[in-house]
Amino acid sequence: MATTASDRKLLVDGAWIATGAWVEIVSPYDGSTVARVAKAGGAEARAAVEAAERAMRTPLPAHKRAEILVRVAGALGRRADEAARLVSAEAGKPLKAARVEVARAMSTYTMAAVEARKLAGEMVPMDASQSGEGKLAFTQRLPIGVVGAISPFNFPLNLVAHKLAPALAAGCAVVLKPASQTPLSALLLAELETDAGLPAGWVNVLVGGASEIGDVLVEDERVKLLTFTGSADVGWSLRERAPRKRVNLELGNATPVIVEPDADVDDAATRCAANAFSFAGQSCISVQRIFVHEDVYDAFRESFVPKVEALVVGDPADEETDVGPLVRPEDRDRVLAWIDEARDAGATILTGGRLEGELLLPTVVERPPPDSKLSCDEAFGPVCTLDSYATLDEALDHAKMARPHG
Ligand code: NAP
Repeated sequence: MATTASDRKLLVDGAWIATGAWVEIVSPYDGSTVARVAKAGGAEARAAVEAAERAMRTPLPAHKRAEILVRVAGALGRRADEAARLVSAEAGKPLKAARVEVARAMSTYTMAAVEARKLAGEMVPMDASQSGEGKLAFTQRLPIGVVGAISPFNFPLNLVAHKLAPALAAGCAVVLKPASQTPLSALLLAELETDAGLPAGWVNVLVGGASEIGDVLVEDERVKLLTFTGSADVGWSLRERAPRKRVNLELGNATPVIVEPDADVDDAATRCAANAFSFAGQSCISVQRIFVHEDVYDAFRESFVPKVEALVVGDPADEETDVGPLVRPEDRDRVLAWIDEARDAGATILTGGRLEGELLLPTVVERPPPDSKLSCDEAFGPVCTLDSYATLDEALDHAKMARPHG
């Protein structure tokens, strides 16, 4: 098949490569094709690890790493609108949230540039023991080695920045596998790093079969650190399979909020409405379970529900939209099934609980049973629950009831 302007290649060892196979990136909003990205497998993953290991044999001094990081922050600023539209198109994230994400990514690169210049060791107080008297000792911070990075779909720019920028600050080359749904923002960042003067092999981006690429990152001994952000099951299984590597996991949870009787109820309702439904609840810190003291429960509910109903639901490319689609139709159907399960078990749907067109409306579920999925598991969708409590201890018990994830 011929390549087109919206075909994106992979970055391995400083070269943009096609592989003959493609991953199609489809808009979560209307199913249209956003782009095609070359599809990698185990062979490309091994070549990328090889390139990263080779690149690190010629260390980059801190001042060069910091300069590259600053240049990327600047380039992101100049291309902020393009970056936000890319995030919005591939993730279905409302443009206003995508613009916030771009600003966060700029700040991630800026802070990494600061850290790159501060990686000092420390003096060891040798005279603390008799045998050390008269001796000098110090520690140095050295790059751990090649970093294998796996990122999720929900912050396709800033969570990739969270992996690439600190790794470069620390002097480590990276092999990155972004989420298959959202590789375009990752490829943009790799392009900006390359344009900023990063030599070949320091950043490599592979899109394709998760387990095929993941297996190489887990099994190849040249990868010294794995950094994973995503769901709990995948994260914990990666850690179990890589006992000899440093493995950093950032996982999910079913975020609880407790509203005490002395709270500014209206302010709490405004904040909960914004933070339960931003990016349709597809954030690891999305407010999911709200527990309100019984003295202010009715007042909170009366303030909260209209604020949820005032959120603008629609096309993520529209500047006014607050809540867009879930990333895949299967995820929307799963969340709807969880809402139905709570309703069938006696919960009240205060608003939402149904589709409008293809979109799941922001939904508030009152008093779901404690063993329902909405009470126990991460919904990762535009739904939150509301319940009252009498004492803070009771509220904390409720809050801790969700199944442990991360
Ligand atoms: P996910 O399904 O676990 O995917 C995350 C990444 O892991 C993707 O790149 C995915 O690749 C890859 N992956 C899947 N199976 C793999 C395997 N067997 N080996 C290696 N890699 C594998 O998570 P998601 O749906 O993208 O993201 C949502 C989750 O991320 C939620 O639980 C959320 O709470 C969590 N999250 C946490 C944070 C935090 O900072 N704590 C931030 C954001 C999100 P494919 O896309 O190719 O399947």
